[in-house]
Amino acid sequence: MSFSDKKWIYFTVLGFCVLYACTITKKVGATRVINKAVIEMQARKTFDFDAVHFNNQFATARANDVLQQDDSTFAILIKPESTPVNPSPWYAFKVWGKAGKRITIILNYAKVKHRYNPKISYQAKVWTDIGRVNLSRDSTQASFKLNLTGDTALIAAQEIISSANSYAWMDSLARSPFIKKYVIGNSLLGNPIVALTTTNDDGKKLVVVLSRQHPPEVTGYMAMQAFVNSVTGNTPLAQAFRKQYRLVLIPLLNPDGVDEGNWRHSAAGVDLNRDWDAFKQPETQAAKQFLTKMVAHEDAKVYFGIDFHSTYHDVFYTNIDTLHTTVPGFTNKWLNAFQQAIPGFKARVQASGNGGNVSKSWMMRALGTDAITYEVGDNTSRQMLRNKGRVAAEKMMDLLLKGNRRVKD
Ligand SMILES: [Zn+2]
Repeated sequence: MSFSDKKWIYFTVLGFCVLYACTITKKVGATRVINKAVIEMQARKTFDFDAVHFNNQFATARANDVLQQDDSTFAILIKPESTPVNPSPWYAFKVWGKAGKRITIILNYAKVKHRYNPKISYQAKVWTDIGRVNLSRDSTQASFKLNLTGDTALIAAQEIISSANSYAWMDSLARSPFIKKYVIGNSLLGNPIVALTTTNDDGKKLVVVLSRQHPPEVTGYMAMQAFVNSVTGNTPLAQAFRKQYRLVLIPLLNPDGVDEGNWRHSAAGVDLNRDWDAFKQPETQAAKQFLTKMVAHEDAKVYFGIDFHSTYHDVFYTNIDTLHTTVPGFTNKWLNAFQQAIPGFKARVQASGNGGNVSKSWMMRALGTDAITYEVGDNTSRQMLRNKGRVAAEKMMDLLLKGNRRVKD
């Protein structure tokens, strides 16, 4: 073999190696593309003007751009992660500047109507409603005045509860000797999907609680926390309940959407609460696998399922036919007891069939349980929604324990 032949072979082999390496790179690249969010991510940055500064460099909510209109007027552009999307313009930003300066802030939602009245906080702990805003004729812009104090003000559509806040809360629950924490999967962007269960029972009677499929629905999340605090509390009722029933809780189904400030969707641009039939998303797949495994375990049964959300007013979305569930007719009994316990509370109830692609339909179809979507009002007072979350849990525990005593008699 001549040197030129050898050289030809050498270059051919080298060429194949380079080609193969490129293919691998492409494969890696393609994997990255698949794993990457397909939504419009917002640029996290500081917006500096002469005497006033804005910033969106923190998890949750959106402030896509800030435009100065004059010396003291600033428009915040708030855009969704993808379209079409529900009209839930979820915003948050920090603002600071010279103490004593009075500025006008315009929330500009493009074509979507104003929904959440701004709240202000200086430490992200205590939140105060900013009061009346001026709406444009078509309600797609809302403006208000703000006196700068020299401190950084946090302005947000709803109280800020990031995935980090939620994980910290889950960890605090899991420090209890009777609560076990499981990482049941990962979101599209690799955040853990966490489930918690109470443990000192025989694991055969389950109650399922879900929350935060839709990122801006903070009031639903708060009511869920009150519900869970009640079930995991020290009252004689809670202690008796936990001896017989196991709480199965998945509090944060959409961590990516929460931290990216999505109005509705996951990082894949998908409404997770429309994926409970196809189960194409990692978040819903994780929930399905964990819950079906819990039920398969020693023939466990689910006695009630409740998925916390938020909308304009308190609404309960129920399933129509509950004659063949673990506790037939439980939802109606529970709603009656719940209403009677809160003076003046008249629950709005909307029933639909269990053929849908939302969690409450799937829980009834696949887990054989009464299940509801509990929509907590965006503006329900925080004291009232916590009260409702607690009472909802107490009435559930009370009825399930009573039902059981009756069976024993
Ligand atoms: Zn929702």
